[in-house]
Amino acid sequence: MQPAQADLIVRGRIATMDATRRVIDDGALAVVGGRIAALGPHAEIVRDWTAPRSLGDARSIVLPGFIDAHTHCSQCFVRSLTTGELPMIPRIYNPAQRSLDATQAGQTVRLIAAQLLRSGITTLCEGTLNPAHEEAIVGAIEEVGIRCNLARGCADQDFHHAALYAQVRDRSWLKAREGEAEIDLARSAAFLDRYPARGDRLIRGAVNASALLGFSERYFRDGHALARERGATLQVHVGRDREEVEFCLAVFGRRPVERLADLGVIDRHLVAVHAVLASETEIELLARGGASLAHSPVECVANLNAIPNLPRFRAAGIRVALGCDNQANDIFVTMRAAWLIHGAKWGVGAYDPEFLAPGDIIAMATSEAADVLFMDDLVGSLEVGKAADIALLDGSGPHLMAMQHLSSEILRYASRAEVKATIVAGRVLYEDGAFATIDVERLRADADAGAAHVRGVLADRRYRALPHF
Ligand SMILES: [Zn+2]
Repeated sequence: MQPAQADLIVRGRIATMDATRRVIDDGALAVVGGRIAALGPHAEIVRDWTAPRSLGDARSIVLPGFIDAHTHCSQCFVRSLTTGELPMIPRIYNPAQRSLDATQAGQTVRLIAAQLLRSGITTLCEGTLNPAHEEAIVGAIEEVGIRCNLARGCADQDFHHAALYAQVRDRSWLKAREGEAEIDLARSAAFLDRYPARGDRLIRGAVNASALLGFSERYFRDGHALARERGATLQVHVGRDREEVEFCLAVFGRRPVERLADLGVIDRHLVAVHAVLASETEIELLARGGASLAHSPVECVANLNAIPNLPRFRAAGIRVALGCDNQANDIFVTMRAAWLIHGAKWGVGAYDPEFLAPGDIIAMATSEAADVLFMDDLVGSLEVGKAADIALLDGSGPHLMAMQHLSSEILRYASRAEVKATIVAGRVLYEDGAFATIDVERLRADADAGAAHVRGVLADRRYRALPHF
């Protein structure tokens, strides 16, 4: 029988991350039309398939393309300016993002995509808040060709958080801007028409109600109904910082997740972002509803200054997806940070440093993340019929020799330096230092200009003058 024609064959030790976490030692997969057409032992694949292009060898490691389950592209120019500048999110991040024009927003996408692709990430999950940036972000994602779960949504509520020492007379309050929820959710519905949550396009839509402070009760209820109707996620930062907990107690008499429960939005569609301050009761509420957690371990240390109780989340059966949240933009750093911070806090502290298995952490950046984002029909594991989203690692270097336990060695010893190729829907977007769709010279000039721009915007807001080391 004549071999069938494929577009691409990828060879290596394949960690499928399927339901049984099957590993194929000298395996290969054949890609046809952006999908995985066949997967098995290398000898069988090359017997049955031929392709104009082959990547990898017997020592390569083939993984599902990684998923960055939480980020904001337009923070990419500003990220390290938060260093030593507590509290950084409202004072540094937000004004820097707001200051960008649409062209600069597009530039941030190209920059973050280059960083993510360089570390084997094929899907990013973007929470977009600024309608003025939306078209530029969507356009740049499509131009680069990286896959994206894009949650859109724009705040519709004013709020005031009473100052700590003025609360005797000053009260926290919120006020919904009448009619804005309807207008913005109509835009989200139109966005979901264009980019369905379960569709075949590179971008899948979702609903973003970023936080309890900026989004009204109406927005949460109707946004949740829209997410349910369209089979999309509703993504909410919750339990992120003490100010939010304090505000919710002052205004609602409830902690943040309790407030979400009162609003009736805790179910399978809810992705709770961060939840570092979630109490036992709040974790229980999330678990009972079937919600998921998007967890960004590097951001926990860099800006949140708190760590979620991951053993409790997992014991309660809550799915967890890892996000780089712009503080890493490197999935190996992100996975290793999860291993180290939770190992140090909950594992070593209980004399059980192995409570979190390496394969479970890798799942949080692949198969489990895909499940959280309703994308597991398409990505997160290497299986016939799924998208050919692949991270190909060079497994020949000294620090991956004497390989004994694949998941453990990937978690402990692999880095983005081993990423040889990153493939999205069968397209090789990154290979050996070169990007197929990103002009690196132009990117460098845009990044330099963007960095200078946000430094100027933030100069007066910082406690410490720049530059300092
Ligand atoms: Zn976020």
